[in-house]
Amino acid sequence: MAVQQQIPNLVLQFFDTYAEAVLVANASADIVYVNKTFCRLTQFDSKEVLGLKEKHIFKVKINYHLVESLKVTHWESGVATKSGDQLWVKVSSSPLIYNNEELTVFTLVENPSIEQLKGLLKESENRFASLADASPVMIWMTDQDNLCYYFNKSWLDFTGQKFEDEVGTGWLQRVHEKDLANFNSVTEQLNNHEGYSLEYRLRRRDGAYRNILEIGTPRLLPDGTFAGYMGSCLDITEFKAVQNELANYTEELKRSNEELEQFAYVASHDMQEPLRMIASYVQLIKRSIESGKPTDELFDFMKFVLDGVSRMQLLINDLLQFSRLNKKGIPFTEVDLNEVVKVAITNLTNRIADNNAVVTYTPMPIVNGDVSQLTRLIQNLVDNAIKFKSAERTPEISISVKEREIDYVISVRDNGIGIENKFYNRIFVIFQRLHTRNEYEGTGIGLAVCRKIVERHGGEIWVESEFGKGSCFNFSIKK
Ligand code: ADP
Repeated sequence: MAVQQQIPNLVLQFFDTYAEAVLVANASADIVYVNKTFCRLTQFDSKEVLGLKEKHIFKVKINYHLVESLKVTHWESGVATKSGDQLWVKVSSSPLIYNNEELTVFTLVENPSIEQLKGLLKESENRFASLADASPVMIWMTDQDNLCYYFNKSWLDFTGQKFEDEVGTGWLQRVHEKDLANFNSVTEQLNNHEGYSLEYRLRRRDGAYRNILEIGTPRLLPDGTFAGYMGSCLDITEFKAVQNELANYTEELKRSNEELEQFAYVASHDMQEPLRMIASYVQLIKRSIESGKPTDELFDFMKFVLDGVSRMQLLINDLLQFSRLNKKGIPFTEVDLNEVVKVAITNLTNRIADNNAVVTYTPMPIVNGDVSQLTRLIQNLVDNAIKFKSAERTPEISISVKEREIDYVISVRDNGIGIENKFYNRIFVIFQRLHTRNEYEGTGIGLAVCRKIVERHGGEIWVESEFGKGSCFNFSIKK
């Protein structure tokens, strides 16, 4: 029976305008109608198909799915084409009763074939790879077991390695051994398949270690299954250097502010003191001259004035020297601390001899620094060790060194009067002294100078002491 007899022409014309392929079969599964899109899709002429059984067209059928209420069924199937190829289509079939005739309308939508899918996938992969390779950021991917199976060109260019060297866990050999532990900090995120970020040093092709910021993002399949990580790595060495410089600069500013405060304090207190003395003795001199009978005292008064003036000069010179340390000294060079110690001791020959002091030292390392500042540092410490000697003992001073991981600690130990621990910090502040001028000469600048020199060399200075028994001044200096 011709389909025209079963379905009005208007409906068929309407089917012909469909973008989807339409096929109608009767109750005996004979194909009674195909629309134009069906013919275009399968290359069959409608006459070649009419009268065939539905099963001649639909080949392997899978994924049956019934939408009960409407009696519409969805499935996928291979469809025979005239050229013998097989198309893969999504099919919806729905029953239709017309003039008591049971018909089935099939709507076919083409599904890409596996080959087409493979092609699409390949194209998408190529697109990703060329995008990733063009990126200046290093990109990698891992599988479910967190083994790397992809590195973009930037990564391979950076490490100078071949893909085969980096694959799996090979790339870990490029991470600085001291930074391998950094990965422990993200174990929880890795186990929970969460995003993370961490920093570590990675060896560049030229052997230099660069600071890397790594951001890992989990990759999930459409059904939510974890498929591995995708990560990007950025060389942040320059950024870190600027950050450090900024932090140092801020620290330096803080320090110089503190120093300024100390300078103000010094100006108002320490320098006032000799000035007051000068002023009062000049007053006495004036009175003595005005009385018309200058006495012998006049000379004593003048002596005090001169004494005040020279103390003032000393303070000003010390201050000047101290402030000069602020400016960058000569560039650092290799310095043999054995020579430094020798020169410092030679400069103090007279003081050592006058005080019967014994100065010993162990072999010293070679460091990077400013030789004249380091000489001054050792000299100041040995000078103090002699100055603050005990009245009961001949001064014994030993200079020794202890090697640590990144630096050396140089110690100048004496058997002098010692320092109470409440003063351990104060003594490093400019013009802070624990004794009067009558007891021990000095302006209180020596240790402030020492601290500044040590800090300029990136180290720290501190004191340990047993009050009454001796002190040990230590400073660290980078290897
Ligand atoms: P100055 O020696 O001119 O007083 P410093 O800055 O060198 O100035 O020292 C500050 C203070 O620290 C000293 O006045 C002294 O009280 C204490 N001090 C420094 N070195 C020693 C030492 N080796 N033993 C005991 N006290 C010391």
